[in-house]
Amino acid sequence: MRKQIVAGNWKMNMTFPEGINLIQEIINNSTSLKEAQLIISPPYLLLNEAVSLTEETNIGIAAQNCSDHEKGAFTGEISAKMLSSLEMKYVILGHSERRAYFGETDQLINQKIKQCLTNGLQPIVCCGEIMEERENKEHFNVVAKQIKGMFERITAEEFDSIIIAYEPVWAIGTGKTASPDQAQEMHHFIRETIRNSYGSEIANNLSILYGGSCKPSNAKELFSNADVDGGLIGGASLNAKDFIAIAYSF
Ligand code: PEP
Repeated sequence: MRKQIVAGNWKMNMTFPEGINLIQEIINNSTSLKEAQLIISPPYLLLNEAVSLTEETNIGIAAQNCSDHEKGAFTGEISAKMLSSLEMKYVILGHSERRAYFGETDQLINQKIKQCLTNGLQPIVCCGEIMEERENKEHFNVVAKQIKGMFERITAEEFDSIIIAYEPVWAIGTGKTASPDQAQEMHHFIRETIRNSYGSEIANNLSILYGGSCKPSNAKELFSNADVDGGLIGGASLNAKDFIAIAYSF
């Protein structure tokens, strides 16, 4: 059975003390949560503390990025091996902000996925179209191309630890959410695409998260779809009560 997951992407928000408070608040409010696996993704600055504070809980920790290189003279970068030495589990890769502002391509994301897999980290891999692509009815082709490029030469055995997040770029941070039908249609398409490449067992076990202005008021409707296995949450993950309310929406 595939996992239901609610993952919070904090992006470049929270000072060190603010972040510690938010982690503590999330821990305090989620002690009886059974419905979903919670994951939080604070900035690098807070990862070590986040791992220690959540040690006895059911909360997983994700980084928001990692280098495509193993090690060496790459000033400012953090490698998958370094992250894995913190005993954390997940890394968000291919977020549309990394594609738009840092020029990340499917090929680069593919290298990062390989670094994560080599180091025992589970990538949460993002895909999604911009509004113009949807209006031109190119959204399925765009997502299929992203998937093909990002998972090139990833074996079925390796793919087992992948989580995919469908995040229509037009819905991220805009307050515009994909309708439950739009989300289901694309999630189903992604699952079938993976089924064609990796077979039914892997496709059926794959968690596909929806991201894009997901909040307590719309999470239930989105998560009730057969192929929507949870959410990747940006803005609403910075408020512990909203974040936990989303996780209780299954
Ligand atoms: C995101 O950035 O991954 C995201 C889904 O953001 P928001 O929830 O704020 O739209």
